[in-house]
Amino acid sequence: MSQHKRSEHRLGNELKQSAEKIKKSAENQLHKIQGEGHTKRSPREVQARRRKAWFIVGTIFAVLLLTIIFFSILFSMYINRTMKNKVEVDLAAYDLSLATEMYAKDSDTGEYKLYQTLYDGENRILLTSDQIPQSLRDAAVAIEDKRFYKHKGVDWKGTARAVLSTITGSGVQGGSTITQQLIKNITGNDETTVKRKVTEIYRALQLEKQYDKDVILDTYLNTVYFGESCYGAQTASRMYFGKDAQDLSVAECASLIAITNNPSRYDPLISDWTLENNRSRQLLVLENMYKQGMIKEKADYEAACNEEVVFTNGYNCLGQQVEGYVAPTVEEETGEKVTKANNSYFTDQVIEDVARKFVEIYDLQDSKPDSEGKVISAYERAVGMVYSGGYKIYTTQNLAYQKIAEEEFETTEYQEQTDSYDQPLQIAMTVMDPYTGDVVAMVGGTGVKTADRAWNWATEVRPCGSAAKPVSTYAPALDNGTITAAAIIDDYPIDLNGSAWPRNVTRVYSGLTSMREAVVQSLNTCAVRTNLMYGTYNSYKFMTEKLGFTTLTETDSQQVGNMALGGFENGVTTLEMAAAYSAFVNDGIYTTPRTYSRVEDSKGNVIIDNNTESHVAMKKTTAYLMRSILQDVVRRGSGGGAYFSGMSIGGKTGTTDDARDRYFAGFTPYYCAAAWSGYKSNEVVYSDTNPCSAMFKRVMSRIHEGLEDPGFHSCDGLVNVTVCADSGLLATEACAADFRGSRVKTVQVAADTAPTQSCTMHKMVSYCKDGKHIATASCPASSVMQVAVLDYARDTIFDIKVPDDAYRLQVLSEGDCPVHGGAAQKPNEKPTKDPEKKPEDEPEEEPEDEDVFSVRGERSLFTR
Ligand SMILES: [Zn+2]
Ligand SMILES: [Zn+2]
Repeated sequence: MSQHKRSEHRLGNELKQSAEKIKKSAENQLHKIQGEGHTKRSPREVQARRRKAWFIVGTIFAVLLLTIIFFSILFSMYINRTMKNKVEVDLAAYDLSLATEMYAKDSDTGEYKLYQTLYDGENRILLTSDQIPQSLRDAAVAIEDKRFYKHKGVDWKGTARAVLSTITGSGVQGGSTITQQLIKNITGNDETTVKRKVTEIYRALQLEKQYDKDVILDTYLNTVYFGESCYGAQTASRMYFGKDAQDLSVAECASLIAITNNPSRYDPLISDWTLENNRSRQLLVLENMYKQGMIKEKADYEAACNEEVVFTNGYNCLGQQVEGYVAPTVEEETGEKVTKANNSYFTDQVIEDVARKFVEIYDLQDSKPDSEGKVISAYERAVGMVYSGGYKIYTTQNLAYQKIAEEEFETTEYQEQTDSYDQPLQIAMTVMDPYTGDVVAMVGGTGVKTADRAWNWATEVRPCGSAAKPVSTYAPALDNGTITAAAIIDDYPIDLNGSAWPRNVTRVYSGLTSMREAVVQSLNTCAVRTNLMYGTYNSYKFMTEKLGFTTLTETDSQQVGNMALGGFENGVTTLEMAAAYSAFVNDGIYTTPRTYSRVEDSKGNVIIDNNTESHVAMKKTTAYLMRSILQDVVRRGSGGGAYFSGMSIGGKTGTTDDARDRYFAGFTPYYCAAAWSGYKSNEVVYSDTNPCSAMFKRVMSRIHEGLEDPGFHSCDGLVNVTVCADSGLLATEACAADFRGSRVKTVQVAADTAPTQSCTMHKMVSYCKDGKHIATASCPASSVMQVAVLDYARDTIFDIKVPDDAYRLQVLSEGDCPVHGGAAQKPNEKPTKDPEKKPEDEPEEEPEDEDVFSVRGERSLFTR
């Protein structure tokens, strides 16, 4: 208020000075005219002189008139010029200050509905119009602006009186309406110049054209400063009375409004003097309310005046200490989470996304350093715009799902894991619609969210471990035919600088394994081998170009461990993981994720049309096969924790090498979700179960309540092939003659990359069943049988044995028959019969001494 008065005072001074100038020049003219009248003249002369005098007076008036017109034109030009700039820059800013509205589709009706209003402010809890007591509105109007409901933003009568009283020096009297005060509050413009005053008037008139009186008054009550660092009636009400604004009595409303005129004078908590001031102004407010008919009954008025208002410091309005007074705490009274942040993680993310877009479309720059060298970044300026620009932001969230996710994350039931710093285990999750790219729910941490624009783990980069394998390795390798869905990969480590690498979670290796099992059991060896076959850099390109990952590094692109095992240098976000996995659900089509679809300015112009971009990331058959394999992961593999009944579910877990990060990315026919878990301090997560798949189940099972399971649909281009379970190539008779029994199986693969070569791994041999060895010359015929064994020359490292060693020719032919002695016979050169192939089609056999194995017939023989 004192600022305001100073400004009016200065305005008055300027006007006073101009008035004095005019007065002086008028007096001078008068003196001149009077001075000339002293000498006696003839009537003719007198007449001529009179005419001349009139001429002079007329000229003066004409000049004055022209000057007035000239300056009026100049002034209106000035207003137009300067105000036009203001309209573009500042009008927008305060429009939005009033309310940036956040919309989301109502789950039931499908219509967009307002779910939150953003205001720029610090210590401020916003009240909705139904939470503001009418008495509070009345009190403000009664004392601050009694013509509020009549004027159009500016009280000309009051302004004129203020200007006049300033000129005549009789002291400033009001003049600033609630609308004008609101503009001052939200623009923070306290410059004391005529220009600012004019600007404020102009803006007030504009504001009233755009908004209802109720909106203006409520916004005023939500933004006005009440002292004690309280902005808005709610924080003030809690500060002074320990209760919510909606529970205030008439007397308390009057006392609260009394403060706003000048908190340093009327804040009742400061001193006896300010308490006395507050009391007398409170009575003045009540008197005005009564006189203006807001308090109708005299008895009510008197009751309000006599009410013993008690402040939270234990003193009543009469300055008496109240015996045994205990200040109420709002939290306990209402049971509401008052410390809870205004914004959900989702809303935080929308603000960030829109702000980043603002920086781009408005080409925002960092501010110039202020006197203290402080620079406001372009992004922070953009955030300010989002908060105070009066936009309408249409978000993609599903309010019901967001609520479910928040409820699940807020409970502490699952937080039995705490690290050495006693921090709760953090989990974050993004849920999206795989068909549209719309993010429907996002939670960035566990427990009750206590701050706005808080740390959000959902969009923070973290390594994702094995959850990367499907997107970095198996999908691209399947897609270009590096492997088929029938492929067999050796679950066996390689010698990396003198040690066996990589290690599987189970610490054991199982040798030749189908790619499906490799995914289901999350075998690291197979992922590494497949990634090497596909090409580590190609893997990087697939993730960045096809699946929208933006945070992978050059180092990642060169390290097979990073790409194949998800040990990324920086990591990935749950948002990007959910988007990438969505391509599996949506037949291979990747869609850029989004948290909002549209932003409108306060006039309803669309300023951002946030359309998604979609492209084919992989073939339909690849997506289908990945869906099928990842369903097995949840049915019987490491993703079992994500399973809930009544819905088709696929997904993949992840654990980083040192178990500091746990992950799960999964999907249903309806939604796709990715979750990360770990500690803020990056401690090891000691947990037998995966907290992420558990959270997936908690959230997704509730989201899918009542939804039917349509299953995952099939697609064209798939074919069933009869293959060998040890080579992954077309089965031969030898494959059926394996002494473990037939190794022939039927596998669904993509037709265009189906295996065309037959198995050459199975070789018919004379086998001594007694010695469990390749038959020697010493083995009696009764012990010898014709069976097929695996001709697979694995280069054994560190003496690591795997189960298929028992069936490998190279192992079975070592040394003599343990029972009958004698050197082993050479295996038969060729399988005895191969009904599916002519001899000339036989592929060239690989030299046996090379450490190779066939992944898919003609291509990609893996060498370590
Ligand atoms: Zn075979
Ligand atoms: Zn033998």
